[in-house]
Order: sequence, then C-alpha cells, then structure tokens
Amino acid sequence: MAQRSVETTGPAETESLGAELAGALADGDVVLVRGELGSGKTTLVRGAARALGVSDPVTSPTFSIGHRYAAGALTVSHLDLYRLAGLEHEDPALLTDYLGPGRIAFVEWPQDTHVELAGARVHVSLSHGGGDRRRIEVHELPRALHGSDAS
Ligand code: ADP
Ligand code: MG
Repeated sequence: MAQRSVETTGPAETESLGAELAGALADGDVVLVRGELGSGKTTLVRGAARALGVSDPVTSPTFSIGHRYAAGALTVSHLDLYRLAGLEHEDPALLTDYLGPGRIAFVEWPQDTHVELAGARVHVSLSHGGGDRRRIEVHELPRALHGSDAS
C-alpha cells in the first residue's frame, strides 16, 4: 500500500480503512491526517487506534493538543494541532511527549512549522465527496528509506 485512493460511504468504512492502515504501522511511526473539518480524520484515527489495541473511547482532543492511549506495550498518541496554527512562539518541546520510540502517533492538522513531523511515514488526506462519501488518499513511505534514525 504505497499510495492508494479510496472512497468510503460511511463512518464505519472509514474506521475500517483506519484499521487496515494500522496493520502496516510500527513502533515510532507518525501518521499525518489532513482534511477539512468533518471530513473524518478523527473517525479514521479511532478505527486505527482500536485495531492497535486501544480500548478507551477515542475522542477529539479539545482541552489539550492531544491524548495518549495505552495499547498493550505501545502508546497510541492522537494529536489535533488545529489551534496551534499561527502560534509562532509555541514551546518547541510541545510534541515530544507524544512522539518517538514506544509510540505510534496520529496528527490531525499538522503544521509545516513542526519540524518533528517532517519524518512522518504515512500521510492521509480526506475530503468530502457529498453526503456521507469521503475520498481518502493514503501515501505510505517505504520503511527501508525511512529508518528510525532518519533525520
Ligand atoms: P474531523 O476529525 O475530520 O473533523 P470527524 O471524524 O470528527 O471529522 O467527523 C466526521 C463526521 O462525519 C462524523 O460525524 C461522521 O459520523 C460523519 N461521516 C459521515 N460519513 C463519513 C465517512 N464516510 N467517513 C467518516 N465520517 C463520516
Ligand atoms: Mg478531528
């Protein structure tokens, strides 16, 4: 699944796609999830998190930039950086608790200014397709070209 484009017709299908995507993820991976409000970013992350073993309800982070969920020996991080857009003087260490070894991270509304996210291995982009339809593009970078020591 290097690059694919699918259309889902309801939230359950988008969750399933997230679950499928989860099967290709490993410790340390970062997944950037882009798309307009209501396009299904959190829905996709919910499906992926469940498949990774998260049993807590996966909800949109509202009072913090992110949530961290236990998934067996791993932590699943779910960030929403929408409200950080344009914040020029944010704490540079803001994301460090959510990324790195022992974690798999999903980031909604990634900002170009977050250099920590430059090494993200998977990019997902969702768009509205009318009604309950959503167009979802998944671009996965090959692990071989993308070792954990990549800078
Ligand atoms: P975002 O995080 O992108 O703002 P959410 O996942 O929170 O979006 O919300 C998506 C909304 O759209 C939910 O209310 C969900 O039930 C609805 N929805 C309808 N069709 C779909 C679909 N095909 N995929 C995902 N969500 C859908
Ligand atoms: Mg969301």
